[in-house]
Amino acid sequence: MDFIPVNEPLLTGNEKKYLCECIDSGWISSEGPFVRQFEEKISTTVQRQYGVAVSNGTAALEVAVQALGIAEGDEVIMPTFTIISCAMAVTKLGGRPVFVDSDLDTWNMCVDEIENKITSKTRAIMAVHLYGMPVEMDKILTLARKYGIKVIEDAAEMLGQTYKGKPCGSFGDISIFSFYPNKHVTTGEGGMVVTDDIKLAERCRMLRNLCFRKDVRYVHDEISDNYRFTNLQAAIGLAQLERLSEFVKRKRRMGRYYTEQLSGVKGIKLPITETDYAKNIYWVYGLVLDDEIDMDNREFVKRLASEGIGARTFFWCMHEQPVYIKQRLYVGERYVNAEKLARKGLYIPSGIALSEEQMQAVVRSVKKTIYQLG
Ligand SMILES: *Cc1c(COP(=O)(O)O)cnc(C)c1O
Repeated sequence: MDFIPVNEPLLTGNEKKYLCECIDSGWISSEGPFVRQFEEKISTTVQRQYGVAVSNGTAALEVAVQALGIAEGDEVIMPTFTIISCAMAVTKLGGRPVFVDSDLDTWNMCVDEIENKITSKTRAIMAVHLYGMPVEMDKILTLARKYGIKVIEDAAEMLGQTYKGKPCGSFGDISIFSFYPNKHVTTGEGGMVVTDDIKLAERCRMLRNLCFRKDVRYVHDEISDNYRFTNLQAAIGLAQLERLSEFVKRKRRMGRYYTEQLSGVKGIKLPITETDYAKNIYWVYGLVLDDEIDMDNREFVKRLASEGIGARTFFWCMHEQPVYIKQRLYVGERYVNAEKLARKGLYIPSGIALSEEQMQAVVRSVKKTIYQLG
């Protein structure tokens, strides 16, 4: 069998048709009509008033954080176990990410540790939903109300997922999505900020486009960037979005299959199937090697690769990032669960295009790799 990549998107719907419409009509830039349509469809899907499409999910986080007015000296509480986009959006503006540890069952931030980290400088909590299971939003929203701070919801991996029946992406003062090819809906590269606050939405529109003054063009009051999203990206996104519920079903079917096949295997911990607030959507199917297994995730990923299986290690913690260590940030801070996930966690092929035969081959190789250890 050919090498099985860790992710492959499924582009077999109207993607080509809508892209051809862009080319036939000449609308390929960010001024094209599909951009607004895509913004409206995503915001409707996640029950928000406004959507602002940007060039990628990282840009969406940057725009969201800047739109909330986070600046020099401000603190934002977030998990240390996440993608660096979360921390960079804050440090780029001179703010300070403040970290909490992770929960070993859901792999999300420990919400019970947040309150202890709140100081007079705290401006926001960044709630990041990771790998398929949402964060416990109720506890975060209660804290935010109690202390008068904002919630930035990173729902990059959660389009189509719900928390207590309400869409992920509907909870933050401002929430974001990514449309990278391993996300549930892809536009190649792409992202979106969603909110119900018209002022925030307008600020995001300004920030994605160089903060042109409204009255006079080429005059700018603020530093921002060109984070525009093109009609070509929106064309693919609209076609993808038509199949969202089918894609969610495929993800859950994949998760069920892997769980059935791997649940008897000693030495690995599988993703949590459900909690009282959500059923896993398996953005990716993760495995965490038990402490008794004398091997880290990098070596395990290498061995799977030699079997023809694409796998990836989990995120590397923010407090252990060379870039922040060089700046002498987070000296002596420890987050034992997050550090364990970063060293022992990995994910196996989980893309929407994954076939039954491919999943069978993945299971065979995972079992073989584990048994060779024992
Ligand atoms: C993918 C992802 C992002 C960043 O999105 P890009 O489009 O790759 O920039 C941000 N947060 C989380 C949780 C992600 O998984």
